Amino acid sequence: MDYLPVFLRLGAEPAVVVGGGRVAARKAEWLARAGAHVTVIAPELLPELQAQVGLGRLRHCAASFAPEHLDGAALVVAATDEPAVNLAVSDAARVRGIPVNVVDQAELSTFIFPAIVDRSPLIVAVSSAGAAPVLARRVRESLEALLPARLGELARFMGERRRQVRRALGALARRAFWESVVSGPVAERLLSGEEAAAEQAFARELLSSQLTSARAGGAGPPGEVYLIGAGPGDPDLLTLRALQLLQQADVILYDRLVPEAILERARRDAERIFVGKEVGDSGQQQRINELLVRLARQGKRVARLKGGDPLVFGRGGEELEVLTAHGIPWRVVPGITAALGAAAAAGMPLTHRGLSQSVTLVTGHADATLDWRTLAGADRTVVFYMGVRQLPRIVARLRAAGAASTLPAALIERASLPGQRVLRARLADIALLARRERAAAPAVLIVGPVAAFAGAAAPAVPEAARA
Ligand code: SAH
Repeated sequence: MDYLPVFLRLGAEPAVVVGGGRVAARKAEWLARAGAHVTVIAPELLPELQAQVGLGRLRHCAASFAPEHLDGAALVVAATDEPAVNLAVSDAARVRGIPVNVVDQAELSTFIFPAIVDRSPLIVAVSSAGAAPVLARRVRESLEALLPARLGELARFMGERRRQVRRALGALARRAFWESVVSGPVAERLLSGEEAAAEQAFARELLSSQLTSARAGGAGPPGEVYLIGAGPGDPDLLTLRALQLLQQADVILYDRLVPEAILERARRDAERIFVGKEVGDSGQQQRINELLVRLARQGKRVARLKGGDPLVFGRGGEELEVLTAHGIPWRVVPGITAALGAAAAAGMPLTHRGLSQSVTLVTGHADATLDWRTLAGADRTVVFYMGVRQLPRIVARLRAAGAASTLPAALIERASLPGQRVLRARLADIALLARRERAAAPAVLIVGPVAAFAGAAAPAVPEAARA
């Protein structure tokens, strides 16, 4: 380890930046954000630096650098494009024992600036000790994407309550309590921006921890259920919140449509339960409902992971009703539904000026209860889910309701998954094409003028283009 990472408290300390250009401006901004009193030494300033001086956020010393400028400084940054000046700053700082950074010159520096993820008061600093700045930046970007946007609010929330918790709980219970705050409903609500709900959950959990530690081993905090949309299959199409909750869950109940690549993103030691339905097994939903209730009652955080969006043909609504009826807290995380995944895969807009004014998501069970006359209209887009086996019947019903034989149609199989395929034909021919190509579930049928969208001829995934 060539550098020791530390966090410097600069509040109200004098800091000096030598240089008046863009890089100097950036460093001065960081130092000012950390509370330092920054003086910029440069004969002339860039307008943006001048503006900061005008606002009173920086001081300007309009002069060429002289060693005396460093007297009393707690920290120095040299950011000029003149090597001789940078060297002079470095020497003067070292003589005075002041930490110095010369931008992009590690050998003249006694400290370096890391790439940071700022979720103040929580801060992550990343450095490659100058060896690979691009890599450090990439790591920073990954962390940036992984860490919830409101993590800082969570840190502040916890900081503000430390004394209260210290008074309420003994050391051992305290640790367990904070663990449950970080990975339970309190954090989860706060990260969703629901501060009032987080406060309630906090009060509830603190009380429950007090009672538990008083009784030494009573009922733990109540569990909860996250109803999470897994999207069409590509793990990169998961939402950040889905990832975060998958990292927290104790148990994961998942469907047939959820691929292994997505389960791999979940917490390693989470229990996984496959609850995919066999066709014709009408009792399975009932068993899932009971399982959700039972696991949550054991105090578990249960992720109910469904393909696409949990509230689109996913029976998510029924599960929410059951949970509510049993007083179990739940949360829904939306996912990219198959229609959207398929449209993106095929490069096909679902609505388009002059072609389609609306989009309808409809079950492909093809029974007479649907309003086929409306679905057969030529100015709209209809996306049939679960319809592969029923293709001939869907086509027949549409045709009987007045749809033209030439109405464009597309069958999109395995959208976003390996083996993705787009089959295009006129409505009158799509069932035949699908049979010839041995199309199989999961697939959606898109019917309407957009299915022949010109831009769709060259999809971004080459092997996806057929027909
Ligand atoms: N809740 C899911 C739908 C579940 S019903 C969602 O919002 O997407 C199952 C149907 O979804 C399948 O029969 C198929 O029509 C469609 N489907 C799911 N994943 C798909 C995919 N990757 N490509 C094409 N269709 C898909």
